[in-house]
Amino acid sequence: MNNKVILVVLDGLNYSVARDCMGYVNGLIEEQKASVYKLQSELPSLSRPLYECILTGVKPVNSGITHNQVCRLSKEDSIFSLAREAGLCTAAAAYHWVSELYNRAPYEPRRDRFTADASLNIQYGMFYQWDHYPDEALFQDADHLLKRHNPDFLLIHPMNIDDTGHKFGLDSRQYRNSARRADIILSEFLPDWLSEGYQVLITSDHGMNNDLSHGGTLAEEREVPLFVLGECFSHAPVAIGQTDICGLVCQLLNISHGKSFPGECL
Ligand SMILES: [Zn+2]
Repeated sequence: MNNKVILVVLDGLNYSVARDCMGYVNGLIEEQKASVYKLQSELPSLSRPLYECILTGVKPVNSGITHNQVCRLSKEDSIFSLAREAGLCTAAAAYHWVSELYNRAPYEPRRDRFTADASLNIQYGMFYQWDHYPDEALFQDADHLLKRHNPDFLLIHPMNIDDTGHKFGLDSRQYRNSARRADIILSEFLPDWLSEGYQVLITSDHGMNNDLSHGGTLAEEREVPLFVLGECFSHAPVAIGQTDICGLVCQLLNISHGKSFPGECL
């Protein structure tokens, strides 16, 4: 069966902060409507390398996307390219590095910020280049893409949690409050997504440290959540790796892929 999938990547969200501060999604767990897995990010714990890891299932040391300034198209099969090969509709509301990995590099705002081109891996895109672009606006962008194009796969990728972590650090009220704000925004949209039949995964690329950065091997930099919601998930307590997310999404979309995925999760 073909399921439609929404993948939310809350940039820079540490696992413990997600568990402590996101009352809505944790409330869904208490009602057995969601489950959470603790993932360990691959290395280095940096954004662009881990976007590639999440969306292709390939570790940074193998993909060659090893730091944030590697500005080129991905060389791997991605959720976007595999979905397109299967004739599915793809969309993303995401930071411009995602456009550079799967559509066109380098990003040109006047060409790429608003994308509608059926020949591209991400057919419908609303991309942004500002780290402080409001999460609330980004979720509304995603909602617009959802209503207008009814995509089979939609990536939603807000940046405010990471941006706040870089300004105030992991152990700050500002960082925790940015996670709380994202949770409130999710509470507005998630019921609609689920009632429309979407399977929803909410995760992060990496965590945050108290040096206002990330990139290394500390637990607080590597431990991120994976919340799953939707009728297809078993909610079984299985071990999931960050490299499994790509295959898991492809499996939900029912498209052919050569990626690893934890079968017990579905
Ligand atoms: Zn960051």
